Amino acid sequence: MSGDRLYSGLMARHGKYRFRTWLRPHLPYALLWTAPKGKRDCANHEWYRSDEQVDHCYHCEVGVRPHQPLPPPPAEFIELLESSAANGSHAAADALRRVRTPEGSPSR
Ligand SMILES: [Zn+2]
Repeated sequence: MSGDRLYSGLMARHGKYRFRTWLRPHLPYALLWTAPKGKRDCANHEWYRSDEQVDHCYHCEVGVRPHQPLPPPPAEFIELLESSAANGSHAAADALRRVRTPEGSPSR
């Protein structure tokens, strides 16, 4: 398995605390404590949605913000999903349902 193909592998090349971020998914669970998020500002946050209201930075504990929804996907992407769903792709149909469900609303 090549870590360079993972998103975290790409991130590990740039910025403060990136090596720790890369290392975390490669460690056994019992050793996760050896690679915590950085305590100081990484100065180049990369966000993930922690819960309904809050985004956190992958790299540092300082990076916390109110959740900011992603912009809607481009029309060409939606058309591609629609075409694939019409041709029987269950994955495309599922993805289409997800992009059409506004954030924060129940998906079922
Ligand atoms: Zn950060």
